[in-house]
Amino acid sequence: MALRRIVRYPEPELRQPTVAVPEAEVTSAAIRELVADMTETMYAQNGAGLAAVQINRPERVFVIDGHIAGGTEQDPPLVFINPTIDWLSEETETRDEGCLSFPGVFVPIKRALKARVSAFNLKGERVTVEAAELYARALQHEYDHLSGRLIVDFVGAVKREIIKRKMKRVAREEREEREEREEAATGGGEPRAL
Ligand SMILES: [Zn+2]
Repeated sequence: MALRRIVRYPEPELRQPTVAVPEAEVTSAAIRELVADMTETMYAQNGAGLAAVQINRPERVFVIDGHIAGGTEQDPPLVFINPTIDWLSEETETRDEGCLSFPGVFVPIKRALKARVSAFNLKGERVTVEAAELYARALQHEYDHLSGRLIVDFVGAVKREIIKRKMKRVAREEREEREEREEAATGGGEPRAL
């Protein structure tokens, strides 16, 4: 397992085309490793879900926290490989939604209240889940990532500019903090004269 860097908006990798995992490779070591990395990365950021594209991988794979999916906090995440949305309820709900690729940003998004999704699991079985509320929202959010659709696409032009500016500010602040830490670690300031 390895912690991966999460791609952040507006980095173009979030919009890259995704590719289905060939059926013969659904149970492969490479996909297991990808899922293990995604799981570790998601939990390191206290996320509820993560799509492969968010760690700059094109596979049509996402994971959702087991607790969100109706299990206990100890349950492993649910893995969705080559998912399809089979049904969405007409009944909708609007709630604030965040994304690990947009730290600190929440936008109100209208989603179907219930969803039915089919996907391969790591055993190579095609499984169908019925989800409601937060679980259904997470499924729709992660599924959107597979087609490059992001929370910023649900807001108007003015709000989008505000989010872009906020993301640039966050990136700049993090860079400055990193530079300060590096300077402190190397003693900082002027080099000592010999
Ligand atoms: Zn997201």
